[in-house]
Amino acid sequence: MRTIGLLGGMSWESSAEYYRLLNEGVRERLGGLHSARVVLASLDFAEVEALQVAGDWEAAGRLLARHARGLEAAGADLVLLCTNTMHRVADEVEAALGIPLLHLADATAAAVRTAGLGRVGLLGTAFTMEQSFYTGRLADHGLEVLVPDAPGRELVHRVIYDELCRGVVREESREAYRRVVDDLVERGAQGVVLGCTEIELLLRPEDVDVPTFPTTRLHVEAALEAALGGRDRPAVGSRDAGPDGSTS
Ligand code: GLU
Repeated sequence: MRTIGLLGGMSWESSAEYYRLLNEGVRERLGGLHSARVVLASLDFAEVEALQVAGDWEAAGRLLARHARGLEAAGADLVLLCTNTMHRVADEVEAALGIPLLHLADATAAAVRTAGLGRVGLLGTAFTMEQSFYTGRLADHGLEVLVPDAPGRELVHRVIYDELCRGVVREESREAYRRVVDDLVERGAQGVVLGCTEIELLLRPEDVDVPTFPTTRLHVEAALEAALGGRDRPAVGSRDAGPDGSTS
């Protein structure tokens, strides 16, 4: 099993999900007492958010690259940047590393393509919805991306920073997100990318009429595949119990 480096804290509400889902995924695949090999760098999100608001992506890129190198030095074999928004500086992070960075938009696009869809709505922070670093990467995979109108984008962005990144999940906000998704579906979206790692804490698949693509879960699935090489049974000769309780 390879060691997964998590560049997290953006926010820690979703990093905690990454940690839980990675460990659950390894337990499902390898059984017994197996758990994920993880190293975590958890940043102070207030510092990162201040750089976002200032538009100082260069400083943000330097900060994240420094922490990513720390993950590599601590033994990580691959790195996940646990936020869609900060993929704004994915190139800088990747350039600082001698190990792979698993790009969140690539994992997401692969899932959308596998589901056979070509046109999706995108919910995320204003940075993710309005700049080209994310929509462009999805488009590179042949996807057509629709974003909410200006009031919709403002609402989705505000709920992320004022509520979800602070651990607040409100029914009114879920209802408001549902209306934003309905609008995207009316405009032709066949599915919706939950393009912020906290959104899946609010919007569940059953809340909307089209398939959802929860980016935290999809990123974790891609990491498990990379870390375990698609193995779903203990290695031959292992004395650990398999998922069904058997030993080999
Ligand atoms: N976690 C969020 C994302 O996936 C937003 C927080 C951030 O700005 O990094 O975009």
